[in-house]
Amino acid sequence: MKIYNTLSRKKEEFEPKEPGKVSMYVCGPTVYNLIHIGNARPMIIFDTVRRYMEYKGYQVNFVSNFTDVDDKIIKKANEEGVDSHVISERYIEECKKDMQAMNVKEATTHPKATEEIAGMLQMISTLIEKGHAYAAADGTVYFRTRSFKEYGRLSHKNLDDLQGGNRSLLVSGEEQKEDPLDFVLWKPKKEGEPYWESPWCNGRPGWHIECSVMSKKYLGDEIDIHAGGEDLIFPHHENEIAQSEAANGKTFARYWMHNGFLNIDNKKMSKSEGNFFTVRDISEKYDLQILRFFMLSAHYRSPLNFSAELMEAAKNGYERIVTCVTNLNYLLEEAHKNAPDSGMSAAEESALEEARGFVTKFEEAMEDDFNTADAVSAIFELVKFANTKASPESSADFVKAVKDEIIMLSDICGLIVEKEAEILDSDVEKLIEERQAARKAKNFARADEIRDLLAQQGIILEDTREGVKWKRA
Ligand code: AMP
Ligand code: ZN
Repeated sequence: MKIYNTLSRKKEEFEPKEPGKVSMYVCGPTVYNLIHIGNARPMIIFDTVRRYMEYKGYQVNFVSNFTDVDDKIIKKANEEGVDSHVISERYIEECKKDMQAMNVKEATTHPKATEEIAGMLQMISTLIEKGHAYAAADGTVYFRTRSFKEYGRLSHKNLDDLQGGNRSLLVSGEEQKEDPLDFVLWKPKKEGEPYWESPWCNGRPGWHIECSVMSKKYLGDEIDIHAGGEDLIFPHHENEIAQSEAANGKTFARYWMHNGFLNIDNKKMSKSEGNFFTVRDISEKYDLQILRFFMLSAHYRSPLNFSAELMEAAKNGYERIVTCVTNLNYLLEEAHKNAPDSGMSAAEESALEEARGFVTKFEEAMEDDFNTADAVSAIFELVKFANTKASPESSADFVKAVKDEIIMLSDICGLIVEKEAEILDSDVEKLIEERQAARKAKNFARADEIRDLLAQQGIILEDTREGVKWKRA
């Protein structure tokens, strides 16, 4: 399996530190708002990487954090007049709902920065003891960047170029730094901000130290893969390497993977630019499986431009697989009815060999730095094969074998292509009656629950003067 490593800027053969096991850390979102579809890209991509590795038999320890203390969270909390915890917890819950709807697996651990402060104080103390960090007069602690000789290794930046660039960026209050390149590990609290006690001042951690500490705690000093969007290469990941390696004295991560941006009109989608769609916006128009399919239709390192046309193309592509599986299910039922005991014919056995070739093609694409675009093409070839080779004359064994292959490959991509049987009209009506009764009894919780249940099945309710009407979405 080859992975493009940002460190070497080359595709490298993947060799985990421990045979059969993979430790992987993906930088998660800052939770002050609903996630946008740019944030969804690394979630879907690295979930697919994880799924493929699990398919290959690796045991994957997958850690992805929530950054739940940050200026933007505090600003929002102040606007709403609530504690910043209320904001972060709200958006962690919403983020988890979106992840589930995109079929992104739960991480092995989803640490939150605010619950890991003790580890941060520990690592900062170690860095000070080793001469890699210092506290300024106001209690701010800085990392002494020049003390880490390999600084710039990941982003391929030269310290002296950075020095020139950063000097002009020195903002007021930062004159206390020994060097403009130094970055914050701990900062004093301001009025109205959450804070923790520390040997240096009451304050809160810098963003970079959070990930170094959470990665160390849940995965150890040396991990296999560290990942995130390419905007994190510098300074976030560069600073993580400096902190972790200076503190632990070991290589931090062996492979660095970065996804390209999701753009709109060829500009990066971002909350600060205001040019974004939330995952929730998209879910109003599309099944989120289609968003997932859209993300996988490009190579993860390429920029991907979001457009209505490409989403429509993704919808067609995804539905082609779903329709094929629905047809195979129909053929399977027929075959069971017509010839329950007949096994696969010799011709079917050899046709199945051809189908296995598409599985090999899929694997080859994934082994080549997770080329999901080519992997999805292999699924399409399999679908085309199924559409031409499976017929009402086929044996049940043959139809099932072809269907299983399509489901298996789709599942590695995290795509759910076998739809549950539709809810029957009579069941919808029974549930509507129950909801009316619940409302009469003022059991609004149950009434809402039934509405949600029906919504999940794509049933839309409309309260009219003549009573409740319903339709399928
Ligand atoms: P943030 O909440 O901004 O820290 O972002 C969380 C994750 O989403 C990081 O891995 C970012 O690199 C990634 N990300 C943010 N915006 C985009 C985008 N437009 N395209 C791709 N990845 C993004
Ligand atoms: Zn991070």
